[in-house]
Amino acid sequence: MAEFVFHDANLWNFGLPDPEESEAAVALKGSSDQEIKAWLAFARTGGFQLPSSNHSLPQKLVDAFLVLKYYDDLLILHWVHEAQPTGNTEGDASSTGRYWCTSCLRDKPHGYKHKDDWRREEKEHEETYFCMHRGKLESTDHGFVCAFCGINGPDESHFASHNVYACESQGGKRFSCKRRCDMVTHLDKVHGVYDRSQREKVATMWKYCIPKQAWACGFCVRTFSTFPERLKHLQGHFENGMTLDNWDNSKVIQGLLEQPALKEAWKAKVANLGLEAETRPLVWMDTDLKDLQRRLEMGPLAAWENPEALVDAAFTAYLSQFE
Ligand SMILES: [Zn+2]
Ligand SMILES: [Zn+2]
Ligand SMILES: [Zn+2]
Ligand SMILES: [Zn+2]
Repeated sequence: MAEFVFHDANLWNFGLPDPEESEAAVALKGSSDQEIKAWLAFARTGGFQLPSSNHSLPQKLVDAFLVLKYYDDLLILHWVHEAQPTGNTEGDASSTGRYWCTSCLRDKPHGYKHKDDWRREEKEHEETYFCMHRGKLESTDHGFVCAFCGINGPDESHFASHNVYACESQGGKRFSCKRRCDMVTHLDKVHGVYDRSQREKVATMWKYCIPKQAWACGFCVRTFSTFPERLKHLQGHFENGMTLDNWDNSKVIQGLLEQPALKEAWKAKVANLGLEAETRPLVWMDTDLKDLQRRLEMGPLAAWENPEALVDAAFTAYLSQFE
């Protein structure tokens, strides 16, 4: 189990921006990575300081680049991608949007005005990119090759040239991120993979998705066998006016227990509890159900799980409320 459980807070070892840096990162949210890099390079040459400089950037962005120019591109891009708006920036995450991220409901609830922004965040919660996901060596028909550039039989000095220790050292904590573009940047900046198509190919191979078998809704008791199905369903709720207040984590658990692989085992469990439990669905109060939810979403897929163990875990979580 343990190898599949990770918490977003551990995914980045980098520093967090202070309030001024956060605000600057928010200001850059509408710009592409390429634009940001180009303007940073310009700012670092002292471009914005020249009294006669003829650039067409709004003052707000000029100020942001002047604040951020002292940091590494990769770190800045990370801050920009993660930036939570401090004001009511159009189109960004806020407390007033119509589409709510269902993974962040507990910790930092926020919604989006536009469904595409919301969909992107929901998707990011499903995927993680890990540097050297399967190690620095890759086994192929022609023997072992470098996982970064693909050369045959790389030795330690070759790996040193890729600066692998930047990612191997810190107690096994490898660089990871939620967006492919961040991994592409990382391969460029940290590991010296200068060929863009190679970077993109490698980043794609380092994508990791939690192997889930089921997804559920918190507005109604439903189970889905694919992520897009769930997304479409949730979108319908939001467009019919459902909000954060209508979300119920109990329904998520109930829905997940209805997945075909668990349904019978859960029915048998409930049957042992007597009639009342059969007619009234159990309620899991709003304690931290994330780990239970994750296990139920993965279902009895892993060797160490089986339907009985999973329904027992759900029932134990239910009982623990009364302790
Ligand atoms: Zn979220
Ligand atoms: Zn790395
Ligand atoms: Zn290499
Ligand atoms: Zn629903």
